[in-house]
Formats: sequence, structure tokens, C-alpha cells
Amino acid sequence: MRRVWMVRGHNVKQSREPGAKGMDLVPEWVRDGFCSVSFREVPPIPGDADHAGITKLSQEAPTRKKYTGSGAVRAKSVRARQLVDFWLGIQIGDVVVVTESGRGITAGIVESLPYHVHGEALRSKARRRRVNWLAHGDSCIPRSALTDPTVDALKGRTTVYELKGTAAAELLRQLEDELADRDTDQNDDAVRRAERLVNVPLRNAAARKFILDRSGGECENPRCALPRLPDVTDAGLAILEVDHVVPLGEDGPDRLENMIALCPNCHALKTRGSERKKLTKKLAKRAAKLHARSFPGGSLS
Ligand SMILES: [Zn+2]
Repeated sequence: MRRVWMVRGHNVKQSREPGAKGMDLVPEWVRDGFCSVSFREVPPIPGDADHAGITKLSQEAPTRKKYTGSGAVRAKSVRARQLVDFWLGIQIGDVVVVTESGRGITAGIVESLPYHVHGEALRSKARRRRVNWLAHGDSCIPRSALTDPTVDALKGRTTVYELKGTAAAELLRQLEDELADRDTDQNDDAVRRAERLVNVPLRNAAARKFILDRSGGECENPRCALPRLPDVTDAGLAILEVDHVVPLGEDGPDRLENMIALCPNCHALKTRGSERKKLTKKLAKRAAKLHARSFPGGSLS
């Protein structure tokens, strides 16, 4: 099930006035296709950081001057939780929503792992994820279309949190409705996106696409007997299966570094072959290496 996250920029407000100053974050996020959190004191987070690592980095970083004593401890623990949620909780294919004041709800699909943005300006010392913003601007989800409990759920004070239960379900339904309306008079691309949103477990769709792109159409088992099959699908795509090296059912992470593109033969060897355990170990190493090559330093930037 796709999850829905509120990601709120600090001091987000909408301003379309020429020359307006301040944190005009929502339009910037939408224009440039990302969402972001910024805790300027926290150093870059390595791509393979785990829960404990992120918490440690965050706890060791100083807090701003206005916090002292127990306030500082609380501020650090809130910051740590939000960074862990942003870094590890949100998955590719999840939905993120932001509120545009006076307009409604902007929503999109997360398309990347988190990455650190270096820069001198406060706002560019941020952690970002690429987002395909589907409902925004004039086609955002109007507040008036939402029930009171959902509007209340959007009023949380923290920067990153998961929306659950009826609020999440209602926002997903509104997003699908919005896209379906748009499909009637717009292009094929919008239709495809809406179909994808409605029918496919999107959480995996973007990740699968990434792995297939990475494979270049060839099986990623280094010992594969026939990495490129002599035919392709009707759509002209390589006949490959995206596999979780350590299966989800065995607590394998639903993350890119645990995913690999395999031809049907190698997939069968890994699932049913007598040497499957050995092969799984080899593929785990291979997946880690390919992943590190895609994201050197754990960063997309
Ligand atoms: Zn193969």
C-alpha cells in the first residue's frame, strides 16, 4: 500500500509577488521537482546511513541558540525523528503532500532516494528527494474537497510525518480523481500517469523502472549464461525481472540496494536451484556494487 507523507518546508508560505522575499518554498519545490527538509546544523548524511547513524549525527549537531537545556534535547530528538522519517521512512513511490496556503493540497510521487544538497545558502543545505508533482497550482486538490478530519490531519506542527487511516485514503482518492478529470481533456502522458497511480503498487513502480534502466537491458547476474535474450517484449523492452535479492518475506529491505534485474533463467536459479543460497550471496554483493556505482557517496547530486 502506498503511504502518504506530509513534508512541510520551514516557514512555507506562498508568494507570487514579484521580488517577494522569504521562504517561497512550495512553488520552488514544484517548479524544480523535489521536496526537502533543511536542518542546517546537521552535516551531510551518507546514503547508507541507518536509523542509529542518522540519530547520532543529529544528536551531535548543535541546536540553534534559542534552545537551551531540556529544550535543546527535545529539539534534537524531534529533528532526529524527522530526518529518519525523511531519509528511511519515505520510499520511492510514496505520495508526498504539501499545503499551499489559500489554494489547497499539492501532491506528488517520490521518485528518488534522499540526497544532500550542499550550498552556502541556508535553504540549499538541505536533504532532498525528487518528486513528480501531479496535483499542483491550478489543479491542486482544493481544501474544500476534503473532509474536516483530513484538514485537521494536515495541521500537524512537524516538518515530516506520515498521514494515516482515513486522511491518507481520502487524499489518495482525491489525487486519483483530480488526475482522472484531467485525463479527459489532456494528453496521453497524463493518462498513463493516472493509470499507473490507480492500478500499480507505485511504491515499486519507480524503483523497478530505475533498476531496469540501470541494467541496460542485460541480466545483472555476472555469471549469467545469456545476459541479453534474443528477443524483446511487444513494447520493445528487455525480458527481465526485478528481484529483491533478500526477499521481502525474509525481511529484505524494500530498497534499491536490495534490488537486481535478472533474466528468467537466473531468477529461476535463484529461487529453485540447489545452489540458490550461494547465488543469493553473490547477487547481494553484485547489487551492492551496482548501487554504489549509481550513487557514489550515497548521493544523487
Ligand atoms: Zn541471467
